Amino acid sequence: MMMCPTKVRWFLNLVTLLLVLATPFFARAETFTVAHVCDGDTIILSNQQHVRYIGINAPEIAHDMKPSEYFGHEARECNKRLVLGKRIRLEFDRERQDRHGRTLAYVYLENGTFVNAKLIKEGCAHVLYVPPNVKHYDRLLTLQRKAIEGQKGMWPNVIATDIGPYRGNAKSKKFHRPTCPFGQQTSPKNVLHFNTKKEAFMNGHSPCRRCLP
Ligand SMILES: [Zn+2]
Repeated sequence: MMMCPTKVRWFLNLVTLLLVLATPFFARAETFTVAHVCDGDTIILSNQQHVRYIGINAPEIAHDMKPSEYFGHEARECNKRLVLGKRIRLEFDRERQDRHGRTLAYVYLENGTFVNAKLIKEGCAHVLYVPPNVKHYDRLLTLQRKAIEGQKGMWPNVIATDIGPYRGNAKSKKFHRPTCPFGQQTSPKNVLHFNTKKEAFMNGHSPCRRCLP
């Protein structure tokens, strides 16, 4: 069926209008390319945006005169293999940025792989509880428990170096050496006792950055 020129023009105008209206919806599902992998939990996108993965923490690699932590390089390699040069999609939680101006996000590959979860599954990072950004905390902790039991990645060595007991804080979900002043400030109603590091990690607690248990 042939359309008369007026109808064609009307039809093209309608298509243009629909495309303009739909643009914000496409923009929401925007994908980015990963240009650089800093470490096991931080990347730089091709638009120079720094992205810090939510809900996980990978061992550090040497920076600002601080030496690398155990498994830091392996964790970066793990992250590189997953995302470097790939198109990714970002999912956000309650806060979009951290205090360093980095974007906070859950990262997904085009094939649907949930990168934050994959790094936990491989034992290349541990879960990190930072409210209010805790949307996937339970799911990540379930994967961490499996990774610990399955002796994945860093776990055999991390839980072997044990000089417990440790003091946990049920509110912050951090664990400390008994002598740590931060740990000693824990309100009595929030104090937990862990005999081993394994117990602390199985309960979703992460090591205090000051006393480094
Ligand atoms: Zn501490």
